[in-house]
Amino acid sequence: MRNMIVAYKGGGYDGCIWEPNFAFFDKNGVLCDVGSSGYAGLFKKGKPQQKDTLEELTKLVLSQEWQDDASAEFFDLTERGVKSMFNSYRGDFCLYVMKEIEELSRGTGHSSGSPGVPCTECGVFHDPEDMMLPEGCGRGDGGIGIIIDDVICQDCYCAGCCRECSSYRGTDQLEEGLCSDCYEKREGDSDD
Ligand SMILES: [Zn+2]
Ligand SMILES: [Zn+2]
Repeated sequence: MRNMIVAYKGGGYDGCIWEPNFAFFDKNGVLCDVGSSGYAGLFKKGKPQQKDTLEELTKLVLSQEWQDDASAEFFDLTERGVKSMFNSYRGDFCLYVMKEIEELSRGTGHSSGSPGVPCTECGVFHDPEDMMLPEGCGRGDGGIGIIIDDVICQDCYCAGCCRECSSYRGTDQLEEGLCSDCYEKREGDSDD
């Protein structure tokens, strides 16, 4: 398996739901960590894996057992595959994964082969480093965290910012270029 992103049921902590973890089969077919956490994370960050361990992990990920109970989901490193990952998992995680994939190829002298990251607004693929996660659009995760689903390119970010207070709301939430607060304020001012 090559140039393939794997989302698997790792992570999670005591008393907490599991969270998706991600790994990547690089162009040589080697499984690399691109985001793992919690007790069920396959990798422990910062600890290099022994080759035999890595082979074990690869076997596990590709095992029939994992395929059967859908513990692993695979996405091609193509526009279609990446888009499908962004549709299936939270945007902030996916952006992190795409940045890590770029990071893996850094210094190797080869391109990652990544199509980039699709903008939630315009759908155009961009370099992951150029993308923004608008916090105002986040939602609670049921705990103390915030989930950010929208991943926005710089053009769409600028277009979606209030021209008065510069907060990002998204183009469809702006009234004459103003957020609802600034719009109401202006309406209020003109009543005086
Ligand atoms: Zn855009
Ligand atoms: Zn505003």
